[in-house]
Amino acid sequence: MKKAAKPERTIPVPSICPTDPAVITSTHGQNSLYLCPKQADFSVDDLPAFIHALQTTGLIAEKFETQQTCQHYFTGEKYLDYIAYMGCAPSVQFEASNDKENFCFIKIHQHSMAQLVHSQKQARAPHCPRCNKPVKNWLDKKTTSSIHCDSCNNTSDIERFNWRKMAGYAQLFIEITDIFPREAIPQQSLLDKLSNISGVDWQYFYYCQ
Ligand SMILES: [Zn+2]
Repeated sequence: MKKAAKPERTIPVPSICPTDPAVITSTHGQNSLYLCPKQADFSVDDLPAFIHALQTTGLIAEKFETQQTCQHYFTGEKYLDYIAYMGCAPSVQFEASNDKENFCFIKIHQHSMAQLVHSQKQARAPHCPRCNKPVKNWLDKKTTSSIHCDSCNNTSDIERFNWRKMAGYAQLFIEITDIFPREAIPQQSLLDKLSNISGVDWQYFYYCQ
């Protein structure tokens, strides 16, 4: 049995999703909650060990295959301990019904380079880390790793912007499908577990296509 290796930059990152942004968009759910490391260039070298650790925590259960390039898992038995739904009687569908489209499951994405995942609808202007003003034309001012702010005339790394929980920039993502913005919130116990497994801090955001 191989032990989970500490992140080593010498080994190529095992990428489990296509990195073409057009393809990425089509592999995302319509409304999802995402968890990702705060460190944008963090990746796991031993993906099977990482996934096994997630299964041990009860966040995810067994894998089901809809696309060979992506890792799709049923929610685990402790899922509702980790993700708190707002409202008194949430009805969460954990298995595919006839339409096979919208139900709550978990996808693991890992890319060879950090990717910005941001909502198509309800896109929010990120706040500049230097002047804290919203950069409304950020899509025009963005490179693969930085954004220029016209307000203060500074260029900063994408990860330093405040995305206000509507975007994330990382290599590794845990996507939980069929959650609308602020419909459900990850508990601190989950963020702590992810931090223990990976050795880095985690954050979350919402995505709507
Ligand atoms: Zn600025």
